[in-house]
Amino acid sequence: MRILIVEDEPSLARQLRQTLESAGYAVDNAHDGEEGQFLGETESYDAVILDLGLPEIDGLTVLDRWRKSGRKMPVLVLTARDSWSDKVAGLDAGADDYLAKPFQSEELIARLRALIRRSSGNASSELVSGDVRLDTRSGRVTLAGEPVKMTAQEYKLLSYLMHHKGKVVSRTELIEHIYDQDFDRDSNTIEVFITRIRKKLGADLITTIRGLGYSLES
Ligand code: CA
Repeated sequence: MRILIVEDEPSLARQLRQTLESAGYAVDNAHDGEEGQFLGETESYDAVILDLGLPEIDGLTVLDRWRKSGRKMPVLVLTARDSWSDKVAGLDAGADDYLAKPFQSEELIARLRALIRRSSGNASSELVSGDVRLDTRSGRVTLAGEPVKMTAQEYKLLSYLMHHKGKVVSRTELIEHIYDQDFDRDSNTIEVFITRIRKKLGADLITTIRGLGYSLES
């Protein structure tokens, strides 16, 4: 899962990035509204954290432009403390949730997880496919009840496929959603990860659809 953070305050942006990366997300940072708008229009994100008070273009305008151009990714707006008018304006502009500053990082992560889950049509925080269970809260994976150790990249890939169970996911889509924009993206590594996941969780879990990508049975 890949997240865009649009936040102009350097220390908060850095802290958010660290928190999200250690929770297993690929993260891009934008430091003003213009850069944020551009990234949100041109890159693929599973969710966006958007500050409202931004240099160049304010957050509400950025959000409004994304929605008018048909960008549907879930957006969590960061508002000034107790500003009900910010909340109303954010929700009206197409925000999916909001959080007032200052906030606890645990709450942010929990809200983000819920947004991503809902937007991919999953009601529960535990994703299941056959004997494999992935708990999005703890980041743990089990096979027939037994815990299985996964590397960060294996987990990101499996989590994306499990969120989109029953759909065919192309290699390009996987690359876009498990790496941040600074990562040296090599599509051959996807095959390597798939092979490793099959070794750990069973050969039948992920089906290769020749020429199209991969799929997890729903
Ligand atoms: Ca700000």
